[in-house]
Amino acid sequence: MRSTLVEGRTAIVTGAAQGIGLAIATLLAEHGASVVISDINIDAATQSAESLRSKGYHAIAVACDVTDEQAVESLADTCQREFGSVDIMVNNAGITRDATMTKMTLADFRTVLDVHLTGAWLGTRAAGRVMREQRRGAIVNISSISGKVGNFGQTNYSAAKAGMVGLTKASAKELAKYGVRVNAIQPGLIRTAMTAAMPPEVLAQKMAEIPLGRIGEPEDIARAALFLASDLSGYITGTVTEVTGGRHM
Ligand code: NAP
Repeated sequence: MRSTLVEGRTAIVTGAAQGIGLAIATLLAEHGASVVISDINIDAATQSAESLRSKGYHAIAVACDVTDEQAVESLADTCQREFGSVDIMVNNAGITRDATMTKMTLADFRTVLDVHLTGAWLGTRAAGRVMREQRRGAIVNISSISGKVGNFGQTNYSAAKAGMVGLTKASAKELAKYGVRVNAIQPGLIRTAMTAAMPPEVLAQKMAEIPLGRIGEPEDIARAALFLASDLSGYITGTVTEVTGGRHM
């Protein structure tokens, strides 16, 4: 029997052309949601949306750079216009620009803060605007375990991902009275293009720290996101869920 966990709901996932975002959008669609695959890379987003539609799911692609205020506002408007509501918002888009602080440029610090933290703030504000009127909604911010423990060579990324925790909790307090929940996920080491770029010795060292003994798959994050987006988590807001195989518990 087909699951109806988010049947009739609508979902926007940013940075959803590939990786964790695509896995989240796919699982939400499999469980009944109409999904907006939004990404800065519109060609890849269009392909991903087409692939979901070919399986019988409701999916559209929308170009959106999450650092662009107007683009994020119109992303929420497009979802509402095309599907009638914005029930689920997943702020997932991300980049890395790793370097130790002595080598990191201010531009690379600011760019990473802008994509992750400002992007999630813009997404939360735009979706929150629609959700307040609807008196329901669930926002899921994809932070990182690096926001909890801080990673060598990632002062920009760790700061941004820790900032997303503050954003999650503060916006959860502001939106709770409208029936809108906001939660964060902190993934550990997940097999995507982002981690494929890691030197093999760094990957092996990180793998050795995972109590459950395997790298995470994008679907591991998607299942947590589905839970936080659905009514299964109806009494949960302002929380951070670590999906790390036990690493940095
Ligand atoms: P990914 O495979 O690189 O996918 C990220 C997507 O976001 C890409 O399609 C990328 O497009 C897009 N993007 C980049 N900048 C954007 C912008 N300004 N506006 C809209 N879209 C943009 O990465 P992933 O591994 O799936 O990561 C997804 C999220 O999980 C990120 O927030 C990441 O920090 C977080 N995370 C990942 C891991 C991990 O181990 N993989 C661990 C912890 C947290 P381009 O490819 O064109 O740049």
